[in-house]
Parts: sequence; structure tokens; C-alpha cells
Amino acid sequence: MANTRNIAFIGAGNMPQSIIGGMVRGGYPASAIYASNPSRPKLDTLAQKHGIHTSQDNLEVVKQADVIVLSVKPQLMADVCAHLREHVSDLADKLVITIAAGIRIEKYHQYLGDNVRIVRVMPNTPSLVGEGVSGLAADPQVTQDDKDFVTEVFDYVGKTIWVKDEDGIDVLGAVAGSGPAYFFEFMAGLQQVAEELGFSSEDARAMVQQTALGAAQMASQSDLSLVELRKQVTSKGGSTAKGIEAYQAAGLDDISARAVKAAVARNQEMA
Ligand code: NAD
Repeated sequence: MANTRNIAFIGAGNMPQSIIGGMVRGGYPASAIYASNPSRPKLDTLAQKHGIHTSQDNLEVVKQADVIVLSVKPQLMADVCAHLREHVSDLADKLVITIAAGIRIEKYHQYLGDNVRIVRVMPNTPSLVGEGVSGLAADPQVTQDDKDFVTEVFDYVGKTIWVKDEDGIDVLGAVAGSGPAYFFEFMAGLQQVAEELGFSSEDARAMVQQTALGAAQMASQSDLSLVELRKQVTSKGGSTAKGIEAYQAAGLDDISARAVKAAVARNQEMA
């Protein structure tokens, strides 16, 4: 574990709750974790479940923190940052992590000051079950020590990938951020055809879901490329080969490329 730093989450919604849960389960000391939220119920759940410090006052938790995680909705970010800037004199001594979608690092410098160290993180929804992918981008003032710390925090809820520049966040968002929806769409199609061919909805869903899970686990435990893995389960002239032929004839790779590029373009428009 990297050095323990006092870390304060501003906003205690779904994503920070998952990150905090992952951190505590992974052995990060609860006594070094703080969270603030305007209403008590989420804070009470966090305090009871994980034993962290909580407050309804953002400034109170920020005062205790070496690291601030901005985890409010993007539309509230300007106001939340303005409030911090007005009342916190040592912001430049703290590391600021933001998980809000669609706001570039440059904007945070406008909100918080030029000399504040900012890391922008794009976690995806499977982080909620500890199997996320987080894209991370840092401004040049961020130190290696800071980066190691942020990597550790987001490793608690899945895998972390540092991008070369912020455009990489738009791409990662289009692949990993939107990715669960692509997989659900594909899985729903497989379930539907299994039902049309005679299975109950429950059994059709179970077979698709378990196959997706099994395939992902096989991939994660293998050094083979995804193409090699696919070939391994495709005997020449067999039924899988026929299925794959149908996908290839329909241009599945091209469909994936178009889907990702459309999502990248939309991420760029919104940033
Ligand atoms: P959420 O709506 O569950 O939580 C937001 C929380 O912020 C709420 O509990 C709300 O009461 C609190 N809040 C409102 N005003 C506040 C203020 N002034 N100060 C402190 N807290 C305040 O949202 P979420 O899903 O946890 O998302 C939080 C951030 O994470 C968003 O910016 C979102 O873009 C980002 N994000 C979420 C996901 C995801 O899968 N949920 C993925 C990537 C990024």
C-alpha cells in the first residue's frame, strides 16, 4: 500500500460509496477516509458500514484532507469548487481528484487556481461491483507519488489505465464507459434468440450471463490474444464457425468501430 493520506469525498453518491467500500475492504484505514453530502442518510450508511468520518459540511472534511475527491454531478461542480476556493486557503497543498464526467482539467484550474494538482478519473459503472475500469489523466504538476496514490485508490474497484492525454479519456469513455451498454445490448440479443428458440426467459438469461462471465474470466486468465481465444473455441467447419461467419458477414468489427467512434465524437462535443 502506498502512503496513507487523508482522503475526503465531496458528494457521497453511488460511485464514491463503491470506491470507499472497495478501499476499506482492501485494507485502506477507514480512519483516513472522510465524506460529505448535504443530506445525512447516505453519510449514516457510510459511517455505519465502513466506520469512516462524515459531515454535511464540505469544508469540514476538506480541512482534514490531503486529497479531495470531487464526486458531485458535473452541473454542480462550478459552485462546489467556487465554495472551496473561497474558504480553503491551502488548496494548492492538496491533491484534487475529480470523477465527474465531461469536465476537462483546464476547467478545474479555472475553478480552483493554476497551482492546484488535478487528476481526472473516468471510472465506469462496473466499479460499483469492484470490476471497473478507470481512465486516469493528470496535469503536469501531479507528482509520481500522487499518481501511485490515485492508482491504488482506483485499483480497489477494478483496473486503472493512465492515458497519455485527456483525449484518451474520451476514447476510454467510449470503450469502457459506454462498453457495459454495448455488452448488455449484445447479450439481450442473444437472450432474445434463445427465448425464440424455446428457452424460458430465466434460463436464456442465465446462459447468456454465465457465458459472458466465463468468457471474460477466461480472457483475464489467459495470455492469448482475444483473436486466439476465439479461434480456440472455433473448430473448422463446426457450428461456432458458422455463427462467426454470420457475424463477420454482417460486419461486426465495423459496427464496433462505428459505435466507438460515434461515442468518442459525442464525448468530445460534451467536454
Ligand atoms: P449521485 O447522484 O449518486 O451522487 C451525487 C451526490 O452528490 C448526491 O448524494 C448528492 O446529495 C451530493 N451532492 C449534491 N450537492 C452537493 C454539494 N454541494 N456538496 C456535496 N455533495 C453534494 O452521483 P454518482 O453516480 O455518485 O456520480 C458522482 C459523479 O461521478 C458524477 O460527476 C458522475 O459524472 C461521476 N461518474 C459516475 C459514474 C457512475 O457509474 N455512477 C461513472 C463515471 C463518473
